[in-house]
Amino acid sequence: MIKLTNIEKVYKTSTIQTLALHQVNLEVARGEFLSIMGPSGCGKSTLLNIMGLLDAPTSGTIRLDGQTVSNLPDKRLARIRNEKLGFIFQSYHLIQDLHVLDNVELPLIYRNVSATERKRRAQEALEKVGLSARTKHYPNQLSGGQRQRVAIARAIVGRPDVILADEPTGNLDSVMGDEVMNILLQLNRQEGTTIVMVTHDEAMAKRTQRLLRFFDGQAVNTENYVAQLS
Ligand code: ADP
Ligand code: ADP
Repeated sequence: MIKLTNIEKVYKTSTIQTLALHQVNLEVARGEFLSIMGPSGCGKSTLLNIMGLLDAPTSGTIRLDGQTVSNLPDKRLARIRNEKLGFIFQSYHLIQDLHVLDNVELPLIYRNVSATERKRRAQEALEKVGLSARTKHYPNQLSGGQRQRVAIARAIVGRPDVILADEPTGNLDSVMGDEVMNILLQLNRQEGTTIVMVTHDEAMAKRTQRLLRFFDGQAVNTENYVAQLS
């Protein structure tokens, strides 16, 4: 599904150069749930941003579904992001002055989906995360766990092949974190959505199929698990 070959990422400012990723080779299979752990600054977000085509590597190639995408122009990348990928962030990134249903519809506005169909699909996505009773609420009227479930609904409304999640439970207490994790496991199991998740929570990482440990811009260890619901 995703194949990274010899990825290097160097951040340059006028005075400093940081090697954020070094010789990263990684293949994520279709339907896999992969987690990534590692100390702060080891390159996890950079890796996720590169997989999500939000940031370009300094060198190396990215293949998505067999197609080399690392050399495509920005417009094509934006389209691939919108059609194939869904993003979830630690801080939700919801739009505060749009209610829940309008937030969830957003990815469909960039496609030619009619308003009626957008509403129907947003409703359906909200049902999957157990929030169909909150469509007219605004983000600041919801708990952290509910906000993250809205963000998940927005990530899945376009039926992406892959979800990229950067510490999706990082701001949540353990009960709400578990709810979010169960939804991700369910999406992976029932819809076959490929998921790559950065986390600091060892217990959550061990509920995915494979845990990749990162250190200083490189993968240093891989552990395989049987993914489990609750
Ligand atoms: P993590 O997500 O594991 O905390 P990051 O991918 O955010 O790590 O960062 C990896 C390294 O790259 C760190 O040393 C960080 O300071 C550096 N870095 C990240 N983003 C930038 C940027 N936009 N400009 C310069 N350096 C950056
Ligand atoms: P953190 O992991 O520190 O909470 P975020 O998850 O908020 O960081 O964001 C991770 C990175 O993705 C940031 O560099 C941010 O600029 C970028 N980003 C966040 N939201 C979006 C978005 N909707 N579209 C594109 N890039 C985004």
